[in-house]
Amino acid sequence: MFKKILIANRGEIACRVIRTARKLGILTVAVYSDADRDALHVTMADEAVYLGPPPSRESYLVVERTIDAALRTGAQAIHPGYGFLSENAGFCRTCNENNLVFIGPPATAIEAMGSKSAAKNIMELAGVPLVPGYHGEDQEPSILKKASDEMGYPVLLKATAGGGGKGMRQVWAADEFAEALASAKREALGSFGDDTMLVEKYLIQPRHVEVQVFCDQHGGAVYLAERDCSVQRRHQKVIEEAPAPGVTDALRQQMGVAAIRAARAINYQGAGTVEFLLDQDESFYFMEMNTRLQVEHPVTEMITGQDLVEWQLRVADGEELPLTQEQIRITGHALEARIYAEDPANDFLPASGTLGFLQPPEESDNVRVDSGVLQGDEVSVYYDPMIAKLIVWDENRDKALGRLTKALTEYRISGMATNINFLYNLLCCEAFKRAEVDTGFIEKHYDEIFLSDQQDISQGVALAALYLVLEQAKNAEKRATHLPDPWSPWNSTGGWRLNQAHVNHFELLFQEQQYLVTIEQLGRADGVRYLIRIGDRTVQARGKIENDEVHADLDGHRIRASVGRHESSYSLYTQDSALQFKVIEADLGDEDAGQGAGGLNAPMNGTVVELTATEGGQVKKGETLMIMEAMKMEHTIGAPADGKVIQFYYQPGDLVDGGAELLDFEVDS
Ligand code: ADP
Repeated sequence: MFKKILIANRGEIACRVIRTARKLGILTVAVYSDADRDALHVTMADEAVYLGPPPSRESYLVVERTIDAALRTGAQAIHPGYGFLSENAGFCRTCNENNLVFIGPPATAIEAMGSKSAAKNIMELAGVPLVPGYHGEDQEPSILKKASDEMGYPVLLKATAGGGGKGMRQVWAADEFAEALASAKREALGSFGDDTMLVEKYLIQPRHVEVQVFCDQHGGAVYLAERDCSVQRRHQKVIEEAPAPGVTDALRQQMGVAAIRAARAINYQGAGTVEFLLDQDESFYFMEMNTRLQVEHPVTEMITGQDLVEWQLRVADGEELPLTQEQIRITGHALEARIYAEDPANDFLPASGTLGFLQPPEESDNVRVDSGVLQGDEVSVYYDPMIAKLIVWDENRDKALGRLTKALTEYRISGMATNINFLYNLLCCEAFKRAEVDTGFIEKHYDEIFLSDQQDISQGVALAALYLVLEQAKNAEKRATHLPDPWSPWNSTGGWRLNQAHVNHFELLFQEQQYLVTIEQLGRADGVRYLIRIGDRTVQARGKIENDEVHADLDGHRIRASVGRHESSYSLYTQDSALQFKVIEADLGDEDAGQGAGGLNAPMNGTVVELTATEGGQVKKGETLMIMEAMKMEHTIGAPADGKVIQFYYQPGDLVDGGAELLDFEVDS
């Protein structure tokens, strides 16, 4: 076995490879750019070599520097991970020329799959089923059009050099053909410098099902079941699972055999994935072959109990495949969710920033977190914004799904927008629970995923308000037990007020809509009850908080939600959905007293504009102590009672996190 390998990648996949190498006693060399000097993969590796500036073109994609790093450190082989140089035939050749083993297929196999139409020709000859279509050399528009007319619409135009969904156009009718062809060609030429096109029958709502194959250098070839990766946004996968729901043993075998035929046709070696479109009638068609380890390989590992990186290393070192086809068993069900720094509500726009707080769910035999970042790390604009992969396993799909939704509610990330709540809502869709997945899933269930249902939102607003008031009572109780005067009215947690009810106002931001909520505490003869008013709707509520869960009774409807707090925003995870909200302005005291003691915390992320009181100077109740600015609005922080500011914890210009304590205030005795 190799003594030392270099990993020509970064992030979670570099860490993933290092873990297996370490298990096998292989030393590792990491590479890094300026942006990754302190990255996890660098600290995990035994050695690390600097490549260059942050842009990948100047660091992770520079072949000569990567090869030089391997030669300098005495590495015998290079693992390319996925992305970057992993499907670069030239890099593979350069490795071989320098006596370095490329942990992947031969350069010829990478080349054979490089062009979609050339790949189709090879697969056609090998008897692998293809989507009906035209992938010939004659690029005359009239020839392409004739092929489409004969096939019948809709058709899909694809750039043969394409990738990442670029140079692809659906054509729904003959009269749209010319324009779609011209625009697909323009995009292909701009992206790949090649506007050669192929045409395929456009399948309506197919599933994306891919087969994991493995080949050794001795003619051995096996398949390790399949993965369903139908749930995609922008033609990119977000949820993957194995095995593919509803795929029978017979279909699995047919697809597996076809995938191996595809791999053999190009003398494949190592780990590869043959992607198929699976039609509603169980017909399946070759789409493309990825000649590397896939992002979603862990779901296959979970159901087969195998370490695919270990297989890669063994096969690259010349060993035979660890198992025969008959020895490969699948057990239970695995699901993977990709956690991205992105804003789903804003067309999944990638986000960047510092991971101010990062707490993944606890790992176990059932829950695995593959990540390459730590709290305090930067998610930079230079690389893929994936923060982690959350993978779960259980004996069946329902149980695995339960584990995944639970684990998502335990993920705490602050510092940037993430897709966690989007994933949670997606997994809560009844159609997903029934495994009715296809490549149009997100568009089809858009309203459900993005909670366009007003009924859900007003229920969520009531739940949020109840949670805030319960949380406030709990905090007051905590404070009271720590303060010298437990009898002070500022520490009162009960509903008693002279001649009036205890009333709170909250201004909440839900789905970019502002809601003014009034919550009134009613008699406590049979426990505290609340009357919640949202516009002209009123809700009778009661509830309690226990272990980060709020138990609520809203007009007799009992619900429970886990609560996650990310800076100034909160997430309530109910059975059906994740509701995210922000408190814009909280009047945390009762109506009469102005801002209560709790009001001395920042209402949300913002900047301190001015300190209007002086430390040690006497102030009257309600007098402004400091001014903050948040979301382009000014917020005044008032004195909760007559007293004095002992100390301001922030100065004008300082950035303050939502919820942070702003100052130390002493109430006159
Ligand atoms: P790229 O290489 O640009 O990612 P692919 O050929 O891999 O493009 O296709 C990406 C996605 O587009 C597939 O996962 C599938 O959702 C959809 N797709 C591709 N071909 C077809 C087709 N013939 N009919 C319907 N959907 C398709």
